[in-house]
Amino acid sequence: MRAAILLAAAATAGVLAASAHAQARPLRPGDAALLKRAPTAEEIIAQNVAKRLTHLSPSVRCGPLGIDVPAGMMVTGITLLPPHGTADYFLLLPQMCTYLAWFRASPERYDPSACTDDACLQLDAKVALALATVSHESYHVLGYRLEKQVECYGMQSIWYVATSLGASVAEGQRIGDFYWRTTYAQRQQATPTYWSADCRNGGKYDLRPASNSWPS
Ligand SMILES: [Zn+2]
Repeated sequence: MRAAILLAAAATAGVLAASAHAQARPLRPGDAALLKRAPTAEEIIAQNVAKRLTHLSPSVRCGPLGIDVPAGMMVTGITLLPPHGTADYFLLLPQMCTYLAWFRASPERYDPSACTDDACLQLDAKVALALATVSHESYHVLGYRLEKQVECYGMQSIWYVATSLGASVAEGQRIGDFYWRTTYAQRQQATPTYWSADCRNGGKYDLRPASNSWPS
């Protein structure tokens, strides 16, 4: 029964398609003002998680991503990468920051295993996408550029973002599993550059090949 519910979420979460983007440019003039102002509470949340994940100190701001997005796609974050090395900042769509703040205020409310209807699953899918966007962009900050690799690594770190924001490890793992079965599964058709057959337990992009636990 639970599998059937999760598949329903996959079918209805099509708008969540592409969750991230990277460009090989270190700083756009248009981002300077955004980066200069003090971070909001939501931005500090995202920054702290990215700092823990990368062991770097990227700035995070919520605001316009400054890119053209094709119809039917949704890009939720962007990292501006220099030609080589690590990045100084990433940007998130404002609604992603809102979801992060909601999650931190009450992580247990966004556990997909507790959902009994489709509206709940859709909301949890959006919250999971916000967590995944932070981890995805964090891998870009570290210097990874290949989207299918970044997305796979990011998915395997959803649990870490979730627990950094106060969830239990078990819930963090359930959210990672939910994302894998829904949003990630959709990518093969919807956003193939963000999907890889090597992203699986024991595959080339498995960050913990010695562990049979997947994706967390
Ligand atoms: Zn990306």
